[in-house]
Amino acid sequence: AVMASEKEAALAATPSDSPTIFDKIISKEIPSTVVFEDDKVLAFRDITPQGPVHILLIPKVRDGLTGLSKAEERHIDILGRLLYTAKLVAKQEGLAEGFRIVINDGPQGCQSVYHIHVHLIGGRQMNWPPG
Ligand code: AMP
Repeated sequence: AVMASEKEAALAATPSDSPTIFDKIISKEIPSTVVFEDDKVLAFRDITPQGPVHILLIPKVRDGLTGLSKAEERHIDILGRLLYTAKLVAKQEGLAEGFRIVINDGPQGCQSVYHIHVHLIGGRQMNWPPG
């Protein structure tokens, strides 16, 4: 179904351990514009960009990490790696003036895909507070 907004998509999403669209992006079954990839992390352009640069960074293996609220001690390395990779990609994308990192969690956090992901948004002046 076509969703009117991200918020609608987030409220319609059921938090669960089921496979997500990101599995198909990782397997290249669904095309995406990959900007960085190593053995642990995949970074690709968001299909609904909220700025001139909008990239999603995800672990290639979800390992129960549907969202940040499900993090366990075993996830500390991948969580650090996602943020460090976001910094590398920000530099690669020329975001020398700054950028925004977002992790949406759960319905109230507007999470719509239950495979943890870090949003890297930049290329325009951000506002605070966020919506
Ligand atoms: P969230 O709302 O934080 O769960 O973020 C999910 C993000 O995934 C949204 O910003 C969507 O635009 C993005 N998204 C969904 N499907 C795709 C896709 N096929 N390729 C790239 N980004 C996607």
